[in-house]
Amino acid sequence: MKLSKKRAKNLEEAKELIGELKNMNCAEDDVFFQAMEEVLLSIFPLFKSDEMYNKSSKNAIVQRLITPDRVIKFKVTWLDDNNEVQVNTGYRVQFNNALGPYKGGLRFHPSVNEGILKFLGFEQILKNALTGLPIGGGKGGSDFDPKGKSDFEIMKFCSSFMRELHKYIGPRIDVPAGDIGVGGREIGYLFGEYKKITSQFDGVLTGKPFFFGGSLMRPEATGYGVVYLTQKMLELEGKESLKGKICTVSGAGNVALHAIEKLKQLGANPVTCTDSKGTIYDARGVDLELLKDLKLNKRLSLKEYIKSYPEAQYIPTSEYPEGGHAVWDIPCFAAFPCATQNELTEVDAKNLIENGCQSVTEGANMPSTTKAVHIMLASDMCLAPAKAANAGGVAVSGFEMSQNAAMEKWTFEKVDAKLKETMENICQNIHDTAKEYGVEGNYVDGANIAGFKRVADAMIAEGI
Ligand code: NAP
Repeated sequence: MKLSKKRAKNLEEAKELIGELKNMNCAEDDVFFQAMEEVLLSIFPLFKSDEMYNKSSKNAIVQRLITPDRVIKFKVTWLDDNNEVQVNTGYRVQFNNALGPYKGGLRFHPSVNEGILKFLGFEQILKNALTGLPIGGGKGGSDFDPKGKSDFEIMKFCSSFMRELHKYIGPRIDVPAGDIGVGGREIGYLFGEYKKITSQFDGVLTGKPFFFGGSLMRPEATGYGVVYLTQKMLELEGKESLKGKICTVSGAGNVALHAIEKLKQLGANPVTCTDSKGTIYDARGVDLELLKDLKLNKRLSLKEYIKSYPEAQYIPTSEYPEGGHAVWDIPCFAAFPCATQNELTEVDAKNLIENGCQSVTEGANMPSTTKAVHIMLASDMCLAPAKAANAGGVAVSGFEMSQNAAMEKWTFEKVDAKLKETMENICQNIHDTAKEYGVEGNYVDGANIAGFKRVADAMIAEGI
């Protein structure tokens, strides 16, 4: 798939710009710069149309925005169940607070390092900006692997992690949340330790359980938001609605199950889901209650699904030809990658287009490979990028901050209505921005430009 001449020229310039910026930063950030290249390529129409944002303008906005305010790196020592001392590394990247307190998740996973967190932190700045809420961008975590650890070990690690992190966070400074490996249990332990150290019941973390300061609808927020945004995108593009349409969804976790739930509520027919081992295809529509029971309650493989529905198909991932995924080979009206990064490849993008798919909405972070994105952008289908499509989660985290600050508890209906409004506004905004900058219909560029511009305007207004 060839890039258009204009885009290829912009890519060359983006590479050149990255080369210059690399000289200002350390070499270990290769993952960060690789990902930045794509974002900068997207933002080029803005650089071209308004010198104020250009790297050579007196504001040096690109150089400033690409460099985190600070990266905090610390040692986390904790005692395992054999009373042996374990050592991990903790991080908090406070990237940009032009729009509000730093905000972004904590990830506990062995793959965590500074470069990855810087990339995720940068993405978070733009995503948070798109919500229209007063929140800046950050990210953090540790190379600690929660898999196979006892509940007590998780608690001890979280306490130890917070003993260092509490020095740098606060409801008006930096408000972390969960991410991979950090769910309600971990947020509870982190919050408990923060309270013990500071004696303050502050809204310093979001994603808390409802009974001590969490927001209703946080579990549903990302999946529901993905579908709300898709509905609006289809409407803006003059395409048919989701009602009665076949939809394919990947994943069987938080985002996927709630996207399936909302699709069903809207009368669509979600026919697939996946886990790391295989794909379920149930042409009559997947049974959501059974899925929730298998994945959320019993934590079993999706293979178990066909015991209840022998006419459904289970396709093991290992049996599918290399380079593609079974789930994207099933004809559908709309596709929702909601599992993991790089799960939708060049081959998958071509299959979806050939099968007449009208829209792809990225529920997961970076689910499409770079080549897949270029192929989809060059086709007639619409593509909603992750930083806009899965912003519902952070939006409801923002609502949790508001409720904590006002000592309020909003109803499910109120949070849901505000989420829907936020997702529709995001979609309208990126649609209008793409049109304004001459890339109409390109929601990827629209999202990057709109997010970048909102943060850059605040930074320029606030001075250096
Ligand atoms: P999750 O609850 O851990 O679920 C992930 C699901 O994807 C699991 O069912 C997992 O299967 C499946 N999966 C993993 N690798 C796969 C592969 N290679 N092929 C097919 N399926 C695979 O995670 P989540 O919270 O739903 O998040 C999913 C994605 O959305 C992530 O990229 C996350 O960063 C992003 N996201 C989440 C939120 C949120 O609010 N949760 C917000 C914004 C973005 P197993 O059961 O076998 O592990």
